[in-house]
Amino acid sequence: TGFKIALCFLIILLLLMFTFVGKSISVMEFVRFTMVACFTLFFAYFIEMLISRTLRQLINAKAQLEQLTKIDALTNLYNRRHFDELLPQKMNSAKRNHTLFTLVIIDIDFFKNYNDSFGHPAGDIALIELAKLFSDKMQRSNDAVFRLGGEEFALLYQSNTETEALKIVEALRVAVEELHHQGTIEKQITVSAGLLVIHPQQDILAARAYQLADKLMYEAKNSGRNTVVQSSI
Ligand code: GH3
Ligand code: MG
Ligand code: MG
Repeated sequence: TGFKIALCFLIILLLLMFTFVGKSISVMEFVRFTMVACFTLFFAYFIEMLISRTLRQLINAKAQLEQLTKIDALTNLYNRRHFDELLPQKMNSAKRNHTLFTLVIIDIDFFKNYNDSFGHPAGDIALIELAKLFSDKMQRSNDAVFRLGGEEFALLYQSNTETEALKIVEALRVAVEELHHQGTIEKQITVSAGLLVIHPQQDILAARAYQLADKLMYEAKNSGRNTVVQSSI
């Protein structure tokens, strides 16, 4: 737009100057001025193009970097850092929508043994397969899946009832058991999960909710593993 406006001004100026050619200015002076003005205008346009292209590249790179800081490199799930950002936001949004909010902490059972038996790379593949399974099954608009670190995952979602909230994790627990039969991992693995349902009228800090869900997950471990322990507040 700037280029077009400048070009219009230049054309008007040249037309005005043209009426003085042969009177107060010579033809050569007019031609020289026209050439210099056109060169300056196109040079400025070229520089402006370069600057705006570099700026666009910088903006894209910044967006990509921001995205990378949220992602776990092995599984491509959201990482712990993004979990800490998103948990309070999602809790507030469920509260505003007067909806039940669920936080689930999932930990693979005896994963050290799996690594010891089949090697660390096979363990990595199992983590990737589990991550794929979780993201495939958690596709609703308010669902979010995270790898919190090591062999620990978290899920955030909204539901209408506590039964529905539990059903979702139970289905995942069973699907994890079945992964081995589909031939994607070396042997059957199981997970233990702590599920905390938060009612919209409840005022609770995100850090406290995480503590409670984590405690439920440890209860699941202590009650024999491969199970979901649920509680609501
Ligand atoms: P529990 O049922 O009590 O959770 O037992 P566990 O063996 O799963 O728990 P523990 O905390 O003793 O061991 C966790 C293991 O997870 C140890 C570590 O080798 C493995 N692990 C953590 N991060 C990774 C990873 O990125 N890749 C692989 N392959 N293994 C990992
Ligand atoms: Mg474990
Ligand atoms: Mg663990």
